[in-house]
Amino acid sequence: MSDCIFCKIINKEISSNIVYEDDMVVAFRDINPQAPVHILIVPKEHIPTLLDLNDENKQVVAHAYMVAKELAKREGIDQKGYRIVSNCGKDGGQTVYHIHFHLLGGRFMTWPPG
Ligand code: 5GP
Repeated sequence: MSDCIFCKIINKEISSNIVYEDDMVVAFRDINPQAPVHILIVPKEHIPTLLDLNDENKQVVAHAYMVAKELAKREGIDQKGYRIVSNCGKDGGQTVYHIHFHLLGGRFMTWPPG
């Protein structure tokens, strides 16, 4: 989508710190990190919210979690633990309407989230 910031990152129209890319997802460091490691794992397909997942695109979710596992190992946060977050809609705290998975680690995560 032409006005989507994550589509522009995926298409390399704006710069980002990309740490991983394959045919399904791009992963890059969050511009406003909430933990020592804060990476966004983003499907290349423009899917606005989790409500837009369906039988045709649902495989990207499992793939994103597998990529998160590998990135957690690479970033050295696998042993102590990490968190994956996906916000949906206004009350869920979603600010960018292109689904993404926050990979957070490198500090103790409190519960419940705010
Ligand atoms: P959400 O609030 O939708 O769950 O998460 C959106 C995330 O995208 C936020 O953590 C925000 O800091 C990050 N973000 C927004 N714009 C950019 C950008 O241009 N570059 C990068 N690297 N991250 C961004």
